[in-house]
Amino acid sequence: MKKVAFYTLGCKLNYSETSTISRMFENKGYQKVEFEENPDIFIINTCSVTENADKKCKKIVKEAKKISPNSYVTIIGCYAQLKPQEIAEIKGVDAVLGAAEKFRLIELLDGFAKAQETKVLASEIQEANTFNNAYSMHDRTRTFLKVQDGCNYGCAFCTIPLARGKSRSDTIENILISAREIAKTDVKEVVLTGVNIGDFGIQEGKRKEKFIDLIKEIDTVEGIDRFRISSIEPNLLTNEAIEFVSKSKRFVPHFHIPLQSGSNEVLRKMGRRYLRELYEDRVSKIKNLMPHCCIGVDVIVGFPGETDELFLETYNFLNGLDISYLHVFTYSERANTRAVDMAGIVPIKVRNERSKMLRILSEKKKRKFYEENLGKTFTVLFEDDVENGKMHGFTENYIRVTAKYDPILINELKTVTLASINENGTVEVEEPQTVYETH
Ligand code: SF4
Repeated sequence: MKKVAFYTLGCKLNYSETSTISRMFENKGYQKVEFEENPDIFIINTCSVTENADKKCKKIVKEAKKISPNSYVTIIGCYAQLKPQEIAEIKGVDAVLGAAEKFRLIELLDGFAKAQETKVLASEIQEANTFNNAYSMHDRTRTFLKVQDGCNYGCAFCTIPLARGKSRSDTIENILISAREIAKTDVKEVVLTGVNIGDFGIQEGKRKEKFIDLIKEIDTVEGIDRFRISSIEPNLLTNEAIEFVSKSKRFVPHFHIPLQSGSNEVLRKMGRRYLRELYEDRVSKIKNLMPHCCIGVDVIVGFPGETDELFLETYNFLNGLDISYLHVFTYSERANTRAVDMAGIVPIKVRNERSKMLRILSEKKKRKFYEENLGKTFTVLFEDDVENGKMHGFTENYIRVTAKYDPILINELKTVTLASINENGTVEVEEPQTVYETH
């Protein structure tokens, strides 16, 4: 029995896909092992968004070869689609598979027999037009369920459409089948995942279903306690969806909404499909209906043309918004994007300073959000990490809590009252109360 190990870089989508590919291997009789357990085959799922993707990829390959010098090393993922030849040059790589090939890797690399030449099977991205369903399982406390892939938007900084292709989705019917399979396991929380999930519903190039119908249907699946929407573009987050989440018992009060810039001038240059006023409106709609709702924001600093004044516009806009945390990205040039040719390059030092300012703002926002919720009661899904006798979990509205380690709490939903914020910035809870009997 051949042993196979996996390494995943990047986003939730990559995790869900690695997990599904690993189940394909298991179904074919391979044994899934940890990276260090002397595997015969390594599958490395890469990301193009990750800083220094090339260096990271090289490092992992080197590590793999150190562990198993005769192993067969396969590289898949966004970086593999974007730079297949570059990866093929990395010493120790046996095969590189693109977006259209990665789900067929077991049949394409028949037997994983080593050859003199590196195998490069990466078609043009236009070929990646079928939807391959995927979900992660037993890797984390939550499951990431892929409902959509690719993107038809063309934001000036983004390589994802080049790496993942056009927007396409699973059918609601198929997603319900996957959700019911997941419900039979002990998974308590499912995160709906995609590249641009608000654009859900395109099948074979035609819009056939809608995101709102997906969430309405999925809400009826018994046996899963929580559904979380991973990230949704502000222009696609409709009133109807917000209202539905506010009434749903299963969809949690948490939205992650990319803003990218709080300056309309920069938003236009980025090719984003909304202005800051729309974003502001989405936040107030959510907060009016769900004052305890967590709102996360993606923001990019140092985009070409972002002057000090325009950055301050972003800073002040975010400072005044009722949001809960930021994910700050420092702009970095990516080949084949429109932004690389834009004027107004921001020096790296300035980019880093701006990033630091927003990270501090994020901490401030998070603390305020946590403080507003102290004394309130929520349910926490405890995870399996232990640190100095403590364990962690998240409330439905994504507050990170700490409690005394108790193995019986792992992967359990508990009702807790948020007591105080500790020096690590997580929330201490009063003793967990009743166990939720979930299935
Ligand atoms: S919406 Fe823009 S940033 Fe998001 S994946 Fe599509 S092109 Fe990239």
